Amino acid sequence: MTHSFTRRKFLHQVGAAGGSAAVYQMALALGMMPSKAFGAPQLVAPLNGRKRSVVLLGGGLSSLMSAYELERAGYECTILEASHRIGGRNFTVRSGDFIDEMGNPQYCQFDDQPNLYFNAGAARIPAHHHYLVHYCRTLGVQLETFTNVNYNAWIQNDAVAGGKPIRYRQFVSDARGFIAELSAKGISADAFDSNLSAEDVERVLQFLRNYGDLDPNLLYKGSNRGGYVQPGIKAPTAGMLEHGTLHERLDFSELLKSDFWQYRMHFGESEDQAAAMMQPVGGMDNIVKGFVRNIKSPMVTHAQVKDIRIGEAGVTVVYQHDGQNKELKADYCLNSIPKHLLVGIDNNFPAEYIQALSAIGRGKMFKIGIQMRERFWERDNIYGGISWTNQNIEQLWYPSHGIHSEKGIMLGAYTWEHENAEFFARLDPQQRFEAALSQGEKIHPDYRKYAENFVSITWQRMNHHMGCTAQWTPETRELYFDYLQQPLAGRHYMMGDQISYHPGWQEGAFSSAHNALSELQKRVSAELASA
Ligand SMILES: Cc1cc2nc3c(=O)[nH]c(=O)nc-3n(C[C@H](O)[C@H](O)[C@H](O)COP(=O)(O)OP(=O)(O)OC[C@H]3O[C@@H](n4cnc5c(N)ncnc54)[C@H](O)[C@@H]3O)c2cc1C
Repeated sequence: MTHSFTRRKFLHQVGAAGGSAAVYQMALALGMMPSKAFGAPQLVAPLNGRKRSVVLLGGGLSSLMSAYELERAGYECTILEASHRIGGRNFTVRSGDFIDEMGNPQYCQFDDQPNLYFNAGAARIPAHHHYLVHYCRTLGVQLETFTNVNYNAWIQNDAVAGGKPIRYRQFVSDARGFIAELSAKGISADAFDSNLSAEDVERVLQFLRNYGDLDPNLLYKGSNRGGYVQPGIKAPTAGMLEHGTLHERLDFSELLKSDFWQYRMHFGESEDQAAAMMQPVGGMDNIVKGFVRNIKSPMVTHAQVKDIRIGEAGVTVVYQHDGQNKELKADYCLNSIPKHLLVGIDNNFPAEYIQALSAIGRGKMFKIGIQMRERFWERDNIYGGISWTNQNIEQLWYPSHGIHSEKGIMLGAYTWEHENAEFFARLDPQQRFEAALSQGEKIHPDYRKYAENFVSITWQRMNHHMGCTAQWTPETRELYFDYLQQPLAGRHYMMGDQISYHPGWQEGAFSSAHNALSELQKRVSAELASA
């Protein structure tokens, strides 16, 4: 109480001397302002005519958000981006776009139509990613529903049903049925020994009956949740005007061999994959375009940073542009260059900082987008969502947008398993296409005949990325996470999803940028107060 009174009194004195801006700066620095308030007018206090400059390294979302906020507060900003485009791993590919993969440069051959795009990097937005949703709202980026889990999509596993694809709904319902039956038998047998009362046992059995759709004798005999078989009808469910025949149950021992029920079946319940999910209408890069429209500061592409020097008075960055080395001095530097590339750039960082950046592993990811001349999956009652397979392609995605239009872009492979991502990295683009088609044929036998063209991306070979999601371990988090959140000499601030608890998510990039801005704010507030 005494402490807060003292701080308030102190702020009053600051106000008398420096006016309302000085009070705002100081309150932020003292942690007295709700700096995490979403929709707050500004994350950074206005400079009110005082001069401060920031160089932002990398043109991904963490830099864009930071530049947007800093510029509004009166900071002079410059974004330096090594590649030919702004956006980083927020990358939507359309007709004519260039994919700068080392050794496998490609140009996208898709037809030039608004719904024929492929989100080669970020693709889905969980509704609870506050910053992301906030900036979509603020920048006027329209969102639509993204279907992640689709009960009509397929599961294909060579160990189950002779490798024939099975509807997701059948797999889930049989897996739950078998487990519920086993548990019900166990709990009935143990009822007298367990600590549960007779009523509790009955409640648990009631739950299991519902969970697994068991019959009154607690046996799983199949369920209409898994769908019906109707001769000549492809639909997974039927029985509107006649009763229909339930699918035969899958063989439990085969099902046990499938990794789907151990892991993928719960994919859509994980923290960041659970409904409701969204996507920007027209492509994920509409978020990038929204920022670009609203940032006036220079964003220099083809500007590869070569040297970073942190000094007493500011930061000096050397970058290569138009075949020349250019130098830029700024008061502060916000840096989102991928950490495994950053350690190879000349710098005067402390040795332990380099050690921390080097200790974090880098992920590998592969995606292929295929233009299909017809939306054949819609005839299979599939609208959006994912089919899973235990082959290298791992996933097929059906577009959630453009429903009932003529063509569509399917995601023909998406893998973050190192082995599978490396399988595709070793192939040239045409071989990747062939592998994706032949594996996809196990799910959609006439798949190939619809495929018109494709683009593939191996993120561990993409120029200026050479990797994807940062791979932290509990040990590296313990040793380095907090350290990397802290500025170097009050001048250099590390950013990016790579130093968040959600690497591989745009929200991680925004959150780390928020942290960097808060640290910068503390620094500037202190400087201005002492001045
Ligand atoms: C396949 C894939 C799927 C994903 N799925 C999702 C998803 O569904 N939802 C979601 O929210 N997120 C997803 N993400 C993650 C999301 O894309 C990232 O979290 C976010 O875009 C990272 O932004 P960033 O600013 O931290 O880094 P980046 O976007 O990586 O930006 C770093 C920038 O630094 C530049 N750079 C590198 N070296 C230099 C240099 N020497 N000089 C200057 N610039 C340099 C790079 O070119 C790059 O533009 C996915 C990413 C990938 C690759």
